[in-house]
Amino acid sequence: MTRAATTSARSKPTAFLEGQRSAIEAERAACARQISALDAELASLSERDGVPQVDFTEEGGEGGTMAIERDRDKALRDTLLARLLQLDEARSRLDAGTYGICESCGGPIVEARLEALPDATECMACKGGGLLRRAGGR
Ligand SMILES: [Zn+2]
Repeated sequence: MTRAATTSARSKPTAFLEGQRSAIEAERAACARQISALDAELASLSERDGVPQVDFTEEGGEGGTMAIERDRDKALRDTLLARLLQLDEARSRLDAGTYGICESCGGPIVEARLEALPDATECMACKGGGLLRRAGGR
């Protein structure tokens, strides 16, 4: 039994973290770009029908399509904005040296998971349970 138990989070190669940083920066830039595009689209949509408020009762009407389109854009924008903030946080964790540590259990998040999802905050085990919890409500 000579297996050394010294694979701590601190011994992770810097190259990996630097790679993650570029991935985060790239995704962040892509998100910001999409948000500006949606902002422009939303602005032109509200200019077109002149009604700033989305009316949910108008489902069958002609204005309904535009409202749905705008609604979808807003939802997408919210999603992108949330992602942008998550990427910001991931970058802060990189700076603070806490990157790759599960927020729920404090254990390490495997590199493969971080490569697939650079802003992951939870390990697979915690995410599995958290996903169900999160779907329930705000
Ligand atoms: Zn965990």
